[in-house]
Formats: sequence, C-alpha cells, structure tokens
Amino acid sequence: MRARGPVLRLKRGHDRARAHPWVFKGEVADVSAVEPGDAVTVVEAAGAFVGRGWFNPGPTLCCRIATRVDEPLDGAFLRRRLRAALALRAPGPAGAPAAARLVWSEGDLLPGLIVDRYGEVLVVQCQTLALERRRDEVVGALREVAGAGPLFHADDAVAAAHEGFAARRGWHDQAGPARTIVAEGEARLAVTFGAGQKTGLYLDQAANRRRAGALGVAGDVLDAFAYHAGFAVHALRGNGTGRALCLESSPEAVAAARENLELNGLTGRAEVRAVNAFDELRRLGAARARFELIVLDPPPFARSRATLAAARRGYKEINLRALRLLTPGGRLLTFSCSHHVGDALFEDVCREAAADAGVTMRVVERLTQAPDHPAILTVPETRYLKGLHLQAVPR
Ligand code: SAH
Repeated sequence: MRARGPVLRLKRGHDRARAHPWVFKGEVADVSAVEPGDAVTVVEAAGAFVGRGWFNPGPTLCCRIATRVDEPLDGAFLRRRLRAALALRAPGPAGAPAAARLVWSEGDLLPGLIVDRYGEVLVVQCQTLALERRRDEVVGALREVAGAGPLFHADDAVAAAHEGFAARRGWHDQAGPARTIVAEGEARLAVTFGAGQKTGLYLDQAANRRRAGALGVAGDVLDAFAYHAGFAVHALRGNGTGRALCLESSPEAVAAARENLELNGLTGRAEVRAVNAFDELRRLGAARARFELIVLDPPPFARSRATLAAARRGYKEINLRALRLLTPGGRLLTFSCSHHVGDALFEDVCREAAADAGVTMRVVERLTQAPDHPAILTVPETRYLKGLHLQAVPR
C-alpha cells in the first residue's frame, strides 16, 4: 500500500469495517495527526489496507469509509461516484419523475451526502463535517454531472450539531424559485425550499404513495401522520367517491397538506386535522368511524436500541387502533422507518395487533423505500423503511 496522508488503525478483532463503512471511536487503536473533516487511510491492526474515509474526532461515529480502493478522495472521485449515482436512476426521458433522490449517502457510497432534485432545483444536504468542508468541491462536481440549475442547501440541524458545524440553509449562489410544484404520477405536490421536513418531501415514500393511488379504493381514506397529505392526494385521485381524513401534528405540515389538497382540486373531499394521531385514532374508534383505506406512516419511534421497547408499544397501539377502524375488505398500509425495528419485529407487532383486534388480515404485499434510496446488503441501516399492505378478510 502506498502511504497517503493520515492513518487510522483499527483495534485487533474489529473487522466490521471490512464490510461496513462506519468506524466507531471504540474500534480505533490509534490515528495519526489529522484535521477534523480530513481523509484518513483506514488499516487493520496488522496494517493491511481497509479503505479510505472521512474523519471527525467529535462524534462516536468518527470515520465513514468512502472507498475500498487505494485512491484519493478528490474531485475526480466525487464526480465518479456522482455519475454512478445518476446512472442508477436514469429513468429515460419519458415519464421522468419531477422529484427524485439523486444521491443517498451510504446507499450511493457517498457517506454523508444527500442530493434531491425537485424540478430544476437541486437540494443538497451535508450530514458530516467532512462534506461541509468540501461543500464547494461537492457542488462543483455536482454541477458538472447533474447540470447547473439553482442549488439549495438544506442541512439537517440535528445532524450538523452532532458533527460540529453550522447547518446551512439557503441558496448556494443565485436564488431559485421560493416554491415549486412537482408531479408525482397523477398527483401534484408543492415544495417550499427551506421549509418542511427532510429536503421538502418524503421521497422514500413516493412509490408507495403511487401504489396507494393505484389501489382504486372507492371508500373513505384515513391518512395518519400525513405530513403534506401525499397519500391522501393519491388515494383520492385514484377513486371517484371517497373522502379523506388527514391527521398531522405539525402546524406547518397541516397548512401544506391543505394547500396540496387544494392544488389537486380535492379540498371539498378532504379534511386535515391538526391533532396528535394517537389521540385521534382513539377518538375515531370511540365514534365507530370506518375507513376503506388507512395509511399509518409515523416518524421513527425507535431512534436507538434503548427506545425499542417503547417504540414497539407505540407501533402496536396505532396498528391495533387502525385495524379496528377498517371496513370489511378494507386495506391498511402500515410503515416503520425505524432502522432498529427490523422486518420480523415489525411483522410481529402487526400480528399481535391483528390478533388483539380480532381481525383476519391478508398480507397483500410487503413494501419498502423507493428504488432511488438504494440499499447496500452489508449496510443494514440503508434498508430502513418497511411496510405491510394488509387487507381485512371479511368474516
Ligand atoms: N406520509 C407522509 C410522511 C409522514 S412523516 C408522506 O408520504 O409524505 C411523519 C409525519 O408525522 C410528520 O409530518 C410529523 O410531523 C407527523 N407526526 C409526528 N408525530 C405525530 C403525532 N403524534 N400525531 C400526528 N402527526 C405526527
């Protein structure tokens, strides 16, 4: 191996880094003098080359390996990775989605970088100090590869604080439109840059929202944890007669949900309630409300292993309450985006809820994140969204 720059040596027996890009502080034997955010060469205890990654002495997750090849993490490297990410998504000119994730961090072997496209606008999120330090280089490479449209920075405040830099939110140079409307299949969804959660939309659910529309459900719809009412918009557009009830606790999201319903000509057929979905599910049960389609898409209840037991109870409760609200033959699309809650655990929880509710549910399909969020087999964290499409079997 050619010696190149600072070296991070793993402790003996810490072989995980051979297949997983993350190195935690407890796995490090020693590291040579290195500036926070700089690249390091990761080697095994005996000195064998593992890869090259970006280092930050602050967080517990102190190094993210970006390449397994002995190469510099320079502009050429960034361009190559970005080109590969774009090639993976190339949808062809017809039916090109107006919103898409172009780069997804570890899923695209570019740990710490997220790039989404909303119409002509690229939205960039730097999640690590290393990428924030290389922001201009990243933007330069991105513009070479993905075009020179307006570019908005939408760093996540929590991730930035964790990594020790000031989150940047705003246009890179020239300002673009304050707002844009993207087509998602038949639906139109508004995106206001710098507002809302994620980079604007939950793009990981795009395929599942379209799926909800394609079901052609004719009756009433409950969209719980609705954000901007994307599921409700698709479901209502897909049928003729039903009404939708959306439950959402964030006032900003409630306003955006109402706006999206109006944008799609659905205001008269939908209601958005600014409520805690847990409480409202209980109230709907007491009022004997019934729905033909229910979507449960909560935020991650388990952000760490420590909160798994509480998360389990949370998933059980909302699924139990939702199952009791279904019409015979009705459908439940239920999701968990907690990486710590695996497929088996999530299915166990849904099974228990169905048993307690006294309903027989057919498993119509298993759902996951949209394909523009590619999962890496050896990095289980990249396959985080799981869902079940269940249908109540009439007695
Ligand atoms: N289904 C949406 C994404 C939902 S993300 C889509 O496809 O776009 C989860 C949403 O739940 C967020 O908008 C969050 O504000 C909301 N939320 C979190 N806790 C809630 C609660 N207790 N009651 C209602 N909404 C909640």
